[in-house]
Amino acid sequence: AAKAAGKGRYEYYQPRLSANLMDRLSREQALRRAIDKDEFLLHYQPRVDTFSGEIRSMEALVRWMNPEKGMIPPNDFIPLAEETGLILKLGQLVIDKVCAQLAEWQAQGLPVVPVSINVSPRQFSESSVDRQLADAVNRHQLDHSLIEVELTESCMMGEEVSVNAQLAAIEALGIKLLVDDFGTGYSCLSQLQRLEVDALKVDRAFTARLCASREGEALFMAILSMAHVLGLSVVAEGVETVEELRVLQALSCNEVQGYFISRPVPAANVPALLEKRFLFPTL
Ligand code: C2E
Ligand code: MG
Ligand code: MG
Ligand code: MG
Repeated sequence: AAKAAGKGRYEYYQPRLSANLMDRLSREQALRRAIDKDEFLLHYQPRVDTFSGEIRSMEALVRWMNPEKGMIPPNDFIPLAEETGLILKLGQLVIDKVCAQLAEWQAQGLPVVPVSINVSPRQFSESSVDRQLADAVNRHQLDHSLIEVELTESCMMGEEVSVNAQLAAIEALGIKLLVDDFGTGYSCLSQLQRLEVDALKVDRAFTARLCASREGEALFMAILSMAHVLGLSVVAEGVETVEELRVLQALSCNEVQGYFISRPVPAANVPALLEKRFLFPTL
């Protein structure tokens, strides 16, 4: 009887377990195939000077063009790519695409600006991002200053020697380092100073609180004064309204990015933005 019950239980749980596993495996398979078939493209979102509105950089944001489901946003596949290690291949793909695109814009005679690339922690710990960047930049005969790297606070937390060495090597290449989503992780001040990070991109949660309360404004002001003492430039992410922009100007935040200035756009729309150069009129 015990055996029968055990068997019954086994039969009950088995299909559910494998349904879950199957789903995950098929999602992983789909992502793997998409990487092999190169179904990814990049959108670009400008980052501008807070006072002049002049474009300082474009952030490359990956999208998956799925033949059946249409455009899939990164939040729907980057986490799986990170869990499965597929981010290593995808990350290399993004680096190559950015460099090829910059070379193309340059060949067209456009007034190019640097492009920032988002890099996941696992790319630093399991591949040589510094070498991948140096290779791609050389292959496309670009100036190193045309590439910037966005890393999260968790990339800098560990004491992993190889990660720190890569960050130092990237910096030595003349590639700017920006800390993405600043304020949501646990980076410590000494790390920020030691790694010679160039700028903090303050997470949009803080920008959203700017006009909501006195505390929100005070918090942003505190981040700004800390960053400026450390010699770091500050970018406000997620600026959605003119009111937020005005407060950020009053607080002397260096650069802004967000839907109010420009949404991320397909590569085909970038030349028009570059020609325009200033994305809002000065006061
Ligand atoms: P992120 O690097 O913090 O990028 C900012 C995200 O906020 C982008 O979402 C952007 O479209 C969105 N955003 C920009 N301005 C506004 C605004 O004013 N309001 C609101 N509500 N959102 C705004 P997206 O493109 O969906 O990317 C999401 C995340 O996926 C990125 O966050 C980044 O962490 C990751 N990601 C994107 N591309 C790559 C990539 O090539 N490699 C890696 N490793 N991660 C990537
Ligand atoms: Mg980013
Ligand atoms: Mg961010
Ligand atoms: Mg963010």
